[in-house]
Amino acid sequence: MTPQAETFEFQTEARQLLDLMIHSVYSHKEIFLRELISNASDALDKLRFEALQDPELAKFTADPHIRLETDKEKRLLTIHDTGIGMTRDEVIRYIGTIAKSGSKEYLSLLNQAKKDGELHPELIGQFGVGFYSSFMVADKVTLVTRHATHEKAVRWESTGDGTFTLEEADRDEPGTSVTLHLKNPDEEDGLSDFAQEWTIRQTVRKYSDFVSYPIRMRVERTEIERDKDGQPVEGAEEKKVVEDETLNSMKAIWTRPESEVTDEEYNEFYKHVSHDWSEPLHRTNFRAEGRSEFRALLFIPSKAPMDLFMAQSYSRGVHLYIRRVFIMQDCEELIPPFLRFVKGVVDSEDLSLNISREILQQNRQVQTIRNGLTRKVLDTLSDIQKNQAEKYETFWGEFGRVLKEGILQDRKNQEKILDLCRFHVTGSEKLLTLQEVIDLMPEGQEKIYYLSGESYEALKGSPHLEAFREKGYPVLLLADTIDEMWPQAVYNFKEKEFQSIARGEVEIGTEEERKQEEETRKEKQKVFADLLKTLESPLDEYVKEVRLSARLTDSPACLVGDTADLSPQLEQMLRAAGQDVPKSKRILEVNAAHPILEKLKALHEADAKDPRIADYAQLLYGLATLAEGSRLPDTAFFNKPLAKLMAEAL
Ligand code: ADP
Repeated sequence: MTPQAETFEFQTEARQLLDLMIHSVYSHKEIFLRELISNASDALDKLRFEALQDPELAKFTADPHIRLETDKEKRLLTIHDTGIGMTRDEVIRYIGTIAKSGSKEYLSLLNQAKKDGELHPELIGQFGVGFYSSFMVADKVTLVTRHATHEKAVRWESTGDGTFTLEEADRDEPGTSVTLHLKNPDEEDGLSDFAQEWTIRQTVRKYSDFVSYPIRMRVERTEIERDKDGQPVEGAEEKKVVEDETLNSMKAIWTRPESEVTDEEYNEFYKHVSHDWSEPLHRTNFRAEGRSEFRALLFIPSKAPMDLFMAQSYSRGVHLYIRRVFIMQDCEELIPPFLRFVKGVVDSEDLSLNISREILQQNRQVQTIRNGLTRKVLDTLSDIQKNQAEKYETFWGEFGRVLKEGILQDRKNQEKILDLCRFHVTGSEKLLTLQEVIDLMPEGQEKIYYLSGESYEALKGSPHLEAFREKGYPVLLLADTIDEMWPQAVYNFKEKEFQSIARGEVEIGTEEERKQEEETRKEKQKVFADLLKTLESPLDEYVKEVRLSARLTDSPACLVGDTADLSPQLEQMLRAAGQDVPKSKRILEVNAAHPILEKLKALHEADAKDPRIADYAQLLYGLATLAEGSRLPDTAFFNKPLAKLMAEAL
């Protein structure tokens, strides 16, 4: 460390992760090279894209390449690139901290990754920490980088011990050089010798062959003068020749016939574009002709990234190429938000090479490609659903919540997307498709019923379901945030309307049965009218009406809304989003057949002013609130009468 170098501490989480990299067992340590080459390739991509907009930068893009350099004596391996580079701030931000940290999920994943002292690549890939993998093979790493818009470079160095140093440095051209001070090879520990050319050559072929920039290395070979038959000339001496070799074929993998590419090659390509460390769940390779001609190689990951729902950190989109020329990473315009988990490349034959972000947003061709990709992904999913049940289950578990956003985002494909959705349904252990729900509907059930709420567990025990259960009507139990929105916006599915069972009046049974029940209820309503009125007044703040219920069989009470009311969850969401939503009152429905109601009626008949009636009204309201899994607006409102009742009863 030179005197002017400044020392910094890694962010706590970055340090934890670094520790994990250094101390856990992992048998594929060579992937550090894939990670560093991927970073270099991304940096070259970024510079190329920036240079399209900023002609000042074009002078740096004449010979984009990656160079690997070794020093066997000093045991050094350096990965140079002529990419965009990093500013000092970016080095601190990107290399000293982990962007995707800070969440509960992060900590739990980190603990899982640590548990048995082994590194679990499927978890590590979640953090976006490719660079740290260099500490699996090196005990010191030095990075020198100069951003394309800066004159000065910065030198970063660390031994992975929790701190790093930064100082100013010189570098002739923009780009980054990462130098690894290699540990001694240890075959037992899966550590090959990365100071050896052949190890490097093999590793590049295996993991990075398709990288679209040349990966060069200076190699030494011996040469001897030969005659025209190829025989060594007598007396000629062997000469050492040092020359550049390009280690990768740079072949665009999506243009090669599928039969010639191995699964392993496809998977490595996936890891390169996605920065994931695990195998993809599924891939699809296709070519579109007609209005727009393009090829696409798309992947569905096997695990949802932690930040899939964090718009500010998750990078969505596929890589865009135009006639084999790389244009940009993560092109959002090509993939709708509800398919943001899809990774891969699209190579268009028709777009113009000097396309810009602004043009992308309005371009009709881009729209056509996006529609084509959407259709293809949906068809692929439908195919998996039909033919690979287990795979689809994994897919749905990881990405179902995202796909469901499409029900509202993409009206044109709404029915297709609904067909792909799976739901918790009363009376079924398995998740079901809507068609399966329709198949389960008994005669007399005309609508698809649903109940939405905070969690599946709370919904399962909700009193609203009682009469539906008794009749054998399946009810969808919807607990995802997006579920608060779509059923009200989708008119129907296969001509069956969606209907919330927590709003409006219920209609169960044949018309005949309904008529009869309605009449009995009207009769009862008359008998109970006075009591219901008395129950209403202490609940005035929360409830607009107390009425008899047609949906309860076992529970004494439940809360419902009018047909046009917002659900309490939706109300809460809108308020959280800053909207001024007036607090709406709900309806308390009580079960006339329940002993509590019968006894209350007797109490009321004996003395309509009995103060206990108000206490019981509060308790009924509290029970109904808790039974649907909601929070009590005022705990004392429930607790006080409950304590009083307990004291009296004991
Ligand atoms: P990931 O690449 O998975 O996001 P890394 O830890 O490998 O995670 O890199 C973090 C960030 O550091 C990258 O996203 C990039 O912005 C920056 N970076 C890493 N290597 C380079 C490089 N060679 N040139 C420019 N920027 C780089």
